[in-house]
Amino acid sequence: MIVGKMAKDEADDLLPDKDAAKGFYAKYEPKEILGRGISSTVRRCIEKETGVQYAAKIIDISNEPNDGADDHTMKDATIQEIHILRRVAGHSYIIELHDVFESSTFIFLIFELCKNGELFDYLTSVVTLSEKKTRYIMRQVLEGVQHIHNQSIVHRDLKPENILLDDNLNVKITDFGFARCLKPGEKLFDLCGTPGYLAPEVLKCNMFENAEGYEYEVDIWACGVIMFTLLVGCPPFWHRKQMIMLRNIMEGKYSFTSPEWTDITEAPKDLIRKLLVVDPKKRISIKDALEHSFFQTVLWDQDIAPLKRSLSSNSRRLSRISQLALELKARSFNARKRFQLAIICVRAVVRIKRLHTTPETMSANVARTDPYRIKLLRKVIDGCAFRVYGHWVKKGEGQNRAALFENTPKTELKHLYVTNLSR
Ligand code: ADP
Ligand code: MG
Repeated sequence: MIVGKMAKDEADDLLPDKDAAKGFYAKYEPKEILGRGISSTVRRCIEKETGVQYAAKIIDISNEPNDGADDHTMKDATIQEIHILRRVAGHSYIIELHDVFESSTFIFLIFELCKNGELFDYLTSVVTLSEKKTRYIMRQVLEGVQHIHNQSIVHRDLKPENILLDDNLNVKITDFGFARCLKPGEKLFDLCGTPGYLAPEVLKCNMFENAEGYEYEVDIWACGVIMFTLLVGCPPFWHRKQMIMLRNIMEGKYSFTSPEWTDITEAPKDLIRKLLVVDPKKRISIKDALEHSFFQTVLWDQDIAPLKRSLSSNSRRLSRISQLALELKARSFNARKRFQLAIICVRAVVRIKRLHTTPETMSANVARTDPYRIKLLRKVIDGCAFRVYGHWVKKGEGQNRAALFENTPKTELKHLYVTNLSR
């Protein structure tokens, strides 16, 4: 025990307990740290024989009592995590466990390496994801979660930090540290996960004696939180006072009012509304979520809706086209006019399709009083904020990235510190 403890205290950045971890060292060459958890460190490593790179999650179990008095030890939890990882293995969007080494002081879990790191870091580097990218990521996340649930496992800690991206920017769901295997009809009651992603029914278990418990639907709720966050770069329920955030979650209180939402179509909003339903029984199933119009790649029906609207008889947009059409009808066939009409129609369709990407007309007054409302300026502000602060995830609706420039650097450093702490 003492040997392990000393090794940990003395060398935070060195690999611990060389004797006990012989098997690992014989086979792998450890490299730099990729990430850290509460009692684990993840390092890149190279398999000596093959030269293939992996990620080694090294879990410290040296501080635990050996008398078996505590039956919720890190070791037990890790053994359960390994059991679950093996059960969910074999799916494209779930992390693959390659090897395991166990000593009295450390457990080594060797995973396939995800070179592109966390979805969280990807999001902070790009601020927000387009609908197309969100569709690509969310389809994979939902398919991965569907596979997990099909093995009677509930993950309980889905969040962008636990979704990794491989070489091809494909999703790998990881960190099954809180995952549980459910018997048919079994409910869970313990409060675990990450505050911003907790489903209302999990919070209820902690607040009311007669709470019903929760099961698989908590992961679907977390998918709603993730999808919202990907699209606009800020989580739906965040509030700097955690009590208010928890109350917002309990009431399902969030909105699509921040400026970023104006550029986003109805389909993703509709899906988020169905994922973030407070009553787990009324929440959309993963199967139905995957069949939602947001995921239909042939978007013709959906995209044509604005066109249909603009071509309806009471639309102003119809006027020029119908005028020409009527003129044509009235006169004899005129190839030039017919060609002109065809061009106008095509241009109209293209303009309507691009409507949400067309820059809005800039009002000097709005630019002066509320620059963040103007998409073009918003992009410039975001870009500048990035260059200054390295990364930025907007935490709540009330926050305005333009305000970053109104604050003193000291306040901002404090803010970033709080942001990091709350991760
Ligand atoms: P914890 O349970 O301590 O949160 P995780 O399994 O989530 O541990 O790993 C912690 C961090 O290590 C991850 O968020 C990620 O940044 C990094 N990481 C974990 N596994 C891998 C992997 N296979 N490839 C690349 N990075 C990884
Ligand atoms: Mg984690």
